[in-house]
Amino acid sequence: AAKGRGRNRYAFYTADLAARAQSRMQIEQGLRTAIAAREFSLAWQPQVDLRNGALLGAEALLRWHSPPLGTVPPDRFIPVAEDSGLIGELGQWVLEQALRQWRDWQRRGLAVGRLGLNVSALQLRDESFINQVRAALQLHGLAPEQLELELTESALQATEGAPERLRLLQTLGVRLALDDFGTGYSSLATLKLLPLNRLKIDRSFVHELETETRDRALVRAIVGMADSLGLGVIAEGVETEAQRQLLIRLGVLQGQGWLYSKALPASEFERYLRLHPLGG
Ligand code: C2E
Ligand code: MG
Ligand code: MG
Ligand code: MG
Repeated sequence: AAKGRGRNRYAFYTADLAARAQSRMQIEQGLRTAIAAREFSLAWQPQVDLRNGALLGAEALLRWHSPPLGTVPPDRFIPVAEDSGLIGELGQWVLEQALRQWRDWQRRGLAVGRLGLNVSALQLRDESFINQVRAALQLHGLAPEQLELELTESALQATEGAPERLRLLQTLGVRLALDDFGTGYSSLATLKLLPLNRLKIDRSFVHELETETRDRALVRAIVGMADSLGLGVIAEGVETEAQRQLLIRLGVLQGQGWLYSKALPASEFERYLRLHPLGG
């Protein structure tokens, strides 16, 4: 019987691998035509002052609806886009669409605050990225300090010359945030080397804040470190009122998460904007 179970497990395992390999291929194939077919959109998640809920800005998050594959989450397709050389074009699309939308809201009198955009390591490595950002800011008349580029630790650690790249970007006046902070292998070395404006505390530290004294200690330490280095902090994945209160007590005054809103399609975010005026 043990043998039989083992074989079954093996069969499941290979079937799962095959399914995943296939869907990777399907994803890559789908991605090749997805921009032209207008299958991408952006969703907008508010970033707020945890003390009073006042809006500070929003993070743009990429969404893909593929007619054959359904809705594919970014954690699934971004790595495929990176491996297949499609991330450059996709990142350029995000930059262009996000700034256009931001400017559009501003033109219509909606105060939107700061715009956060996720940037892949491969985009950062691309010599032309800085020019893309400069051109997009100019084209849409956005003040550079309104734009915050979010980079992950792992992305930065994998990028040779990352400190120089980031310094160049900062000369444009845009802000730089370290995303998913605390999940990389060497967070302190990253902080030592890189010019940054703020840390986004990964939601894995927020999730069990109520029960895990270690997580509370770590968040407190992150805040202390950020203060000493002159960096801002924002918490990701704020889901409950208890987390909100704890974060404030630990010195984290900004956040985003489902307690406030999921990432919303443009029309719904617009409604959110009308109901929740810009603060801070
Ligand atoms: P991220 O930048 O760390 O984004 C935060 C993720 O947490 C988003 O997932 C968001 O929907 C989710 N989230 C927000 N609030 C909560 C909450 O309260 N609880 C929980 N459990 N989750 C919450 P999403 O949209 O699936 O994006 C996943 C990742 O994909 C992003 O992580 C980012 O690394 C990447 N990504 C998304 N859009 C882009 C993009 O335009 N370019 C690049 N290069 N990467 C992107
Ligand atoms: Mg992000
Ligand atoms: Mg994050
Ligand atoms: Mg993430």
